[in-house]
Amino acid sequence: MRSASRRVRGEGKRLALVPTMGALHEGHLSLVRAARAASDVVAASIFVNPTQFGPNEDLAKYPRSFGRDCEMLEREGVEFVFAPSVEEMYPAGAVTWVTVEELSGKLDGRSRPGHFRGVTTVVAKLFHIVEPDKAFFGQKDAAQVAIIRRMVRDLDLPVEIVVCPIVREADGLAMSSRNAYLSLEDRKRALVLHRSLERVRHLVDEGERDALRLIAAGHEEFVREIAVRLDYFEVVDSDTLDRVADVSRGALVAVAAYVGATRLIDNILLGPAKSDNH
Ligand code: AMP
Repeated sequence: MRSASRRVRGEGKRLALVPTMGALHEGHLSLVRAARAASDVVAASIFVNPTQFGPNEDLAKYPRSFGRDCEMLEREGVEFVFAPSVEEMYPAGAVTWVTVEELSGKLDGRSRPGHFRGVTTVVAKLFHIVEPDKAFFGQKDAAQVAIIRRMVRDLDLPVEIVVCPIVREADGLAMSSRNAYLSLEDRKRALVLHRSLERVRHLVDEGERDALRLIAAGHEEFVREIAVRLDYFEVVDSDTLDRVADVSRGALVAVAAYVGATRLIDNILLGPAKSDNH
């Protein structure tokens, strides 16, 4: 992978990387298309990274569809698929980690201890192996975006991070490889995540700025959907992931919930209030 990367970059071409765990859907393909539009050569990685899964999480049953993924990537004109084995990525005796302190314990990091340490370690490794000019990530994983941006800044990694908007199903459900786990009933229940965020957006459009009142409104939607267990509903600064009291300067509204055994996440970004701009 590295020699292929050095060859194309030696020819003066700009290389983009789209890191994924496979089981590709339109959300992933939106990143691939953005990468395609912004660079000469596109590499996608497919690696279900064991170090970002907790002991009781879904590593073993995480959906895998390598052949289909490769076909989809080929149709999008992706030049390279990097799909290393676990042994290649983590040879025996690997004990070195990349940790973005503080941020890694917030949002999903609070309910999934060690998750972001696994993410930042594998993403740093992918950056070193592929040496892309740009790397493309989805806003779907908002905490991941903040943490990777911080890692790139703190470690002076020579890569530009590009973030693409959340791709949704027609009814608003954020696309996710984990949606494949949902029964028909749970698929309907899962809409509560999007509904709670839309409720918040509506209140903000009407002038509400108080984070606690927005959170209370978000919670209310979950009270009505008893089969869904809320993990968190937070209003935070999108860079620091610290809670904010007021959304006038913009905020990230992020939610995570268990629909049956399936943990889903979603979020919206609120822009700065118009009155702040003049
Ligand atoms: P994953 O395979 O779930 O690790 O996701 C790989 C990349 O695709 C990450 O940068 C995700 O944020 C992004 N992604 C996943 N789902 C979506 C979506 N619905 N919209 C946009 N990007 C997404």
